Amino acid sequence: MTVATTEPGAVPSESASATEPESALATARRQLERAAAHLDIDPNVVERLKHPQRVQRVSLPLERDDGSVEVYTGYRAQHDSVRGPFKGGLRYHPDVSEEECIGLAMWMTWKCAVMDLPFGGAKGGIVVNPKDLSVDERERLTRRFAQELRDVIGPMQDIPAPDMGTDAETMGWFMDAYSMQEGETIPGVVTGKPPVIGGSLGREEAPGRSVAIVAREACTYYDRPLEDVTVAVQGFGSVGANAARALDDWGATVVALSDVNGAIYDPDGLDTNDVMGHDERPGMVSGYDAPETLSNEALLELDVDVLIPAAVGNVITEANAGDVRADMVVEGANGPTTFAADAILAERGVEVIPDILANAGGVTVSYFEWLQDVNHRSWSLDRVNEELEAKMLDAWRDVRRTYEADDDLTWRDATYVVGLQRIVDAHTARGLWP
Ligand code: GLU
Repeated sequence: MTVATTEPGAVPSESASATEPESALATARRQLERAAAHLDIDPNVVERLKHPQRVQRVSLPLERDDGSVEVYTGYRAQHDSVRGPFKGGLRYHPDVSEEECIGLAMWMTWKCAVMDLPFGGAKGGIVVNPKDLSVDERERLTRRFAQELRDVIGPMQDIPAPDMGTDAETMGWFMDAYSMQEGETIPGVVTGKPPVIGGSLGREEAPGRSVAIVAREACTYYDRPLEDVTVAVQGFGSVGANAARALDDWGATVVALSDVNGAIYDPDGLDTNDVMGHDERPGMVSGYDAPETLSNEALLELDVDVLIPAAVGNVITEANAGDVRADMVVEGANGPTTFAADAILAERGVEVIPDILANAGGVTVSYFEWLQDVNHRSWSLDRVNEELEAKMLDAWRDVRRTYEADDDLTWRDATYVVGLQRIVDAHTARGLWP
């Protein structure tokens, strides 16, 4: 077993080359500094929040189906737990790195605080393309990962969830491996599990649903009835498909959708229920019979009211932010807009409703799932959706009040200010020990 715990302060370099967008960590730190400048808070707490509490790096030997052994690297970055157990997803992707996990863990800390959930922030993952593995290989790798992380996770310590490249099935294996070692069934160790083993109804749809709720509230705020609103969605996986379908149901006109292969466009509106999502049948979006096809880059530049980047991070950069023609960007993915692009969009009057508010429905229903697990209860789908709606409206109201109170704040700043104030208050109340 190889377990290496890196120095919490030992954060890799933040420098970004001219061509490569900056890392999630660099962006998260700059956003933190920007928000902190708007608050009268102890700089020592801000300094502390720039560093993760702990980063676990593990080596994961996997016996492939052909009998050979390959060793993968996994991480779990635990950023801050002042408000409760660490919480955040596990990502299986070739670009996973220690630095990325730390940045994404920071975003989880702010996201949980914005939603006023009693959780801190974490993120982890394995450097692997899950499509290169068979189902059995993915299961063995996941079980080994659960075993290697066993000392640092648990329902009161750190609760993983799905993220890019992982899903309910992955969480089921993870929960089983952990439970087998503990000698008892512990559903609360992960969220996003299949409902039959303690998962919550509505969890899968929740991030996309919250994107749609927040987009709807933002449109109302700017006096735009949804019936008059056009929407383009990049990425038609769980987040993009659920967001697009909810907005379509509520009367908006979804004119463009995309997957990795490209985008489809219909100025009169696409039937979002007729287009198969990536999770239903991968790669089908670009094959759909639509009046026009576009590249993913061109989708980002469409003249629409609402643009929802819901695929990967760093898609709106310094290079294309000047060409975004949408009035409003509602972030479905984590970190789709770079720090430099954010400034360009703000300058051009494009409102950006940030990821840590818009897609926070995922972790919010994760919280409901955890509550159901630790209390041995199960909620109806109606109850989950009603409580999600209420939580999203509370968070939207808190952010909107902060936004309205200060002309200098962007929506992202206001969202950060709400989250950061709660985290700083908790740090102040608990103090520094020893
Ligand atoms: N991975 C999701 C996110 O980025 C969900 C995390 C969770 O439910 O813990 O928000």
